[in-house]
Amino acid sequence: MNKLLWFLPILLFFYSCSSEEDKVNLEPVNNTVTKAGRNIILMIGDGMGLSQISGARTVNGGTLNILRCRVIGLQSTHAADKYVTDSGAAATAMACGEKVNFYTLGIDTAGNPLTSIVEIAEMNNLSTGLITTSEITHATPAAFYAHQSDRYLYENIALDLIGKGVDFFLGGGKKYFNQRTDGLNLLDSLTSRNYQVRDDLALVSGNQKAAIFIAENIPLTYLHGRGNVLPDAVTVAVQQLNQNKNGFFLMVEGAQIDWACEENNQDYLMAEMIDFDKAVGRALDFAEADGNTLVVITGDHETGGYSLMDGSVENHTVQGQFISWLHTGTMVPVFAYGPGEEEFKGVYENAALFYKFLDFYGLDQ
Ligand SMILES: [Zn+2]
Repeated sequence: MNKLLWFLPILLFFYSCSSEEDKVNLEPVNNTVTKAGRNIILMIGDGMGLSQISGARTVNGGTLNILRCRVIGLQSTHAADKYVTDSGAAATAMACGEKVNFYTLGIDTAGNPLTSIVEIAEMNNLSTGLITTSEITHATPAAFYAHQSDRYLYENIALDLIGKGVDFFLGGGKKYFNQRTDGLNLLDSLTSRNYQVRDDLALVSGNQKAAIFIAENIPLTYLHGRGNVLPDAVTVAVQQLNQNKNGFFLMVEGAQIDWACEENNQDYLMAEMIDFDKAVGRALDFAEADGNTLVVITGDHETGGYSLMDGSVENHTVQGQFISWLHTGTMVPVFAYGPGEEEFKGVYENAALFYKFLDFYGLDQ
């Protein structure tokens, strides 16, 4: 055999290896700060992993608003002291940029208060909003304004919300404001701080700060009469918050996705997923028209170890199974749409989201 021909496959082998390596090595490292946008809408499907999204896509006939996003990443959700997180530690990481201990809110592992993206936004004269289908004092929204060693200290958490400057909030948990063991009436405190305090989203008017309590305590499920308050709240909130030309930060939580998975109840899960996705659609419609708004959609962790065993897109049916009533430790997807969306590609820790938000606004911690 000609010596050169004998050597050719080896040369080709090395060439292909080095070219693969070159591709990896030449991948641009994008640390560029993007300051092209003004507003962020962070949408958290509590307990929403890839199977929850896949199942909802199937029962919705193969489509979802979430899937309108062009950029997808993955975030790792573990807490500082546990592999499988709770909602408080996960939301604190996203809100404050640091992994913290299980069941804590807005404090680091040494007990010192952290500063959340909502607090930083308020300090920089941006508007802020929090919307949830759980109590407004529940772990996920609370991580954006509260600093407590125990996520179940609901009356303390309600106190933390007063005077924080959040311009629009909606959720349950009214009793932690007006039926308190200390006798305080925090609804009066909100009114004296120029909030319109309402029990019905439809009664919100003008651009005055709004506190909307959709339940004394726990809001209804979508299947049992909650109606379209979640998507409608997004529409009302963005109209109000967008009056501030400095920009806004709005967090929207589909809280009962998690509760459905904890009950291992697929019908409940799919109804909550579709409702959350309608809310995502409202946010994306606004962002498309506005051009200055980044929408980020993610979960805080997966719940239930939900898997799809069979299904039919044509018939809009899925046969899912849960392996647990608890949270699980799998990574969860992050979808992004709008200016700065490229920053959300790749695989990162949940705490990285906070820094991506700061970079978007061009703000410091
Ligand atoms: Zn959660």
